[in-house]
Order: sequence, then structure tokens, then C-alpha cells
Amino acid sequence: MTLQKTKSRSTPHRPSLGNRDFRNRTKRSAQTTDSQNTRGAAHAGEATAQPGIILKAGREKSLLRRHPWIFSGAVERVDGAPISGDTLSVRSAQGEFLAWAAYNAGSQITARVWSWREEENIDAEFFRNKISSALAARSELNLSRNSNGMRLIHAESDGLPGLIVDQYGDVLVMQIGSAGTERWRDTIADILQELCKPACIYERSDSESRALEGLELRNGVLRGTLPDTVEVIENGLRFKVDVVSGQKTGFYLDQRDNRALTGTLACDKDVLNCFCYTGGFSLYALRGGAKSVLSIDASGDALRIAAENLTSNGLDTSRAEWVEADVFQALRKLRDQGLSFDLIILDPPKFAPTAAFAEKAARGYKDINLLGFKLLRPGGLLCTYSCSGGISEDLFQKIVAGAALDAGVDAQIIHHLHASADHPVLLSFPEGAYLKGLVLRVGL
Ligand code: SAH
Repeated sequence: MTLQKTKSRSTPHRPSLGNRDFRNRTKRSAQTTDSQNTRGAAHAGEATAQPGIILKAGREKSLLRRHPWIFSGAVERVDGAPISGDTLSVRSAQGEFLAWAAYNAGSQITARVWSWREEENIDAEFFRNKISSALAARSELNLSRNSNGMRLIHAESDGLPGLIVDQYGDVLVMQIGSAGTERWRDTIADILQELCKPACIYERSDSESRALEGLELRNGVLRGTLPDTVEVIENGLRFKVDVVSGQKTGFYLDQRDNRALTGTLACDKDVLNCFCYTGGFSLYALRGGAKSVLSIDASGDALRIAAENLTSNGLDTSRAEWVEADVFQALRKLRDQGLSFDLIILDPPKFAPTAAFAEKAARGYKDINLLGFKLLRPGGLLCTYSCSGGISEDLFQKIVAGAALDAGVDAQIIHHLHASADHPVLLSFPEGAYLKGLVLRVGL
């Protein structure tokens, strides 16, 4: 970021700037010496410039296509002395208004767009409108017929960068991943409380990606009281959800439809479920009439919940086996033992959070898919997934094709799969399509 003295730019209508108001601060800074304007004084002149982001010439293109991220490399300069979380105007090199965006000085993504409309005020009313619209979209989907677990807010794709809200019955779990959303945390919690009336809003802002945004990790109750047990009932199956220390917000809601599909494919099959977490795919397969289900995960805590889920659903425990192991090693062991299966599920964690990790991730995907193909009986099914934002659908299919080739099998794609409908993808934000899956049938 280049800080330099600039002329104040007049805007026809200024929004309220988060919980800070630059108009007051700018005035105050000439007269007082509070901590904010001490910084201002250190960079003489900054406080008089109207805060805002000016892009390099030609770097407005992605914004004009309504992609909501402004990368640091596109920024010519940041006027004023904003701090992370402030709402700033974003302008082209020619001074044309492009968006209102949340600033983060410490992130590769310098700003995330709140609104494309110059007349918009980024205030509590703005958040109420966005949240209401996300809730209305979910209620139109009618998903609550099949599940009391649902993603209510899917970040950028719902116009709220950095905000995830998952519902598990009357508990909401909120995850904040950006400085802009962090600034509005209490406002958002109040609006969710008012509109959804949950028994509890729990905050799981403890994902590693917060470090990239320079945010501290947080995990605790935000509103109300957390019930002793939280569970979702999904397509008639009950799953205990550990919102305090489970992965993500406690459950993988995105795989709901794909789990249901597995249930329809599993009848009379010997199933291997790799990266099983709390048993999602395993329980659907067992209810679908699988002959046997071997489930593997590295987390003992997840496996304990999986076993509880099995019994609480009254499913036949004699057909299920749970193994705590590293899948990369376990697949090799199964191969060396000469075992084989009719249906294999591979749903690993995110190997590539961003494109920078794609090459290493590709090796991991190739490895497990190659082993998966080798463990399948002729005519068997491989249900394989990637939830890496840094791996495109096209690349994933190429990796899987390479694995089939090396395994010496011919395979057909039976299904192309994605996250469930409560995880919409904004057309202008393809990164939102992080989950992709293929169901493949290997030749006889
Ligand atoms: N399919 C699951 C979600 C899988 S999440 C569902 O529908 O609910 C990914 C899982 O992979 C996590 O449970 C995590 O504990 C597990 N995991 C991560 N790395 C692993 C490894 N190397 N070996 C085995 N399990 C691993």
C-alpha cells in the first residue's frame, strides 16, 4: 500500500463507514491526540484525504464483471488512513466509482465488496436486507422438508463476504472470515437473533484462514445458551453435531444431496467410506441396504460420534466397521491385503485452499483416486470429491482421469456433483463452487 498525500475527493453521497465515521475523525484529528489520529499525525496529510482505494489503470475489469475481491496487486494507492474493517469507496484510476468495499490492510485481498451502488449506505439496514434476502431464498428452496440443518448464509455468494451461518435446528453457528464482517459482528448477531429467534448463536471463528486476514481466533457463545446436545435430522437420519470442537461449523451440510445419492447406490454393496467424519455417507449407505461399510477417518473424536450416530438411528452395527487411520496409508494396506469393494467414497479435506497449493493438492488427489480405482471390483462405483477452492472442476476431472489411466481402468462418469442448493454460487464468483464430485463406474 502506498500512502501519499492526495486531494480530497468529493462524493455526492457518503455512506456511513462501518462503526467509525471518517468525517468526525478527520475533523478531530486536527485538534486532539487520541490514538487514532496519533497515527494520522505520523503520516502528515493522510487524515485530510478522503479515505478510499484507487486502482491501477486497467485493473477495474474484474470489478466491472462484479467479482467481489480486490487483490493487493490491483491497488494503486489507499487514501486517508483507514484501518482494517473500514468501508471504503473503490475507484478506477480515472476516479470512476466502482464499489463500496471492506478494507483489510493485512490481507492479500485488500478489500471485499459490500455493494456496487454508490448510493448504498453500509449500515445495519444494509445487513438486515442482505440477511433477510438470504433467508427468503432458503425458505423458497423448501429444504426444511428434508432437513433441519441448512446453510443460511454462504458468504460472497449471498453478498456477505466472509460470513457463513449454518443452522442446526434452533442453534445457529456463525463463522467470520474477513475483517469487514468482523466489524459488523454484533450487528449481524442482533439481526440473526431478531429474524431467526434461535436458542443460541454460537461463534466458530477459529478457522486457519482467519490468520491470513490478521484476525484472532474465537470460539464461543455469542447469544443465548448452547443446548447440551445439538443434532440435525437429515432425510430422516439423525446426526449429532459438535458445534464447539467439530470440523467447520460442526457438520458438512454441503454433502447432503450427495449423501442421499449414495444411499440409493449402496444396496447389496461392500462399501468403503474414506474420510468418513461423523459417518454421513456410511449411515446413508447402511440405510440403503449396503452389505458392509468400512469407514476410515484420522479423527478419533469424529469416529466416536459416528458410532453414536449409528446406534441412535437403530442401524445394524454388525454391518459397520470404523477404523481410525490415515487414509493414504490405510488404502495401501487394503490393497496389499488384496481386499476389494463395490462402492468407494473419497471425500477428503481441502488439500488446496487457494490455487497456489494446486500442484501439491493434485498429487494428493491423484494418489487416493488411483488407489481407489485399484480397490474397486469390475463394475464398481467411485464417488470422489474435492472441496478445494484452488482446484477447478475441470482440473479435478483431469486428475481423476489421470488416476484411472495409471490404475489401468476404463471409467464412465455417471454423475457430476456439487454442493446442495443452500450453498448457492454467485455467477460472477466461480470460487464459490468449491465442492465438486464425480460418480464413476469402472469397466467390467
Ligand atoms: N464425508 C464427510 C465429511 C468429510 S470431511 C461427511 O459427509 O460428513 C474430511 C474428513 O477427513 C475429516 O473428518 C478429517 O478428520 C478427515 N481427515 C483429514 N485428513 C485425513 C487423513 N489423512 N486420513 C484420514 N482422515 C483424514
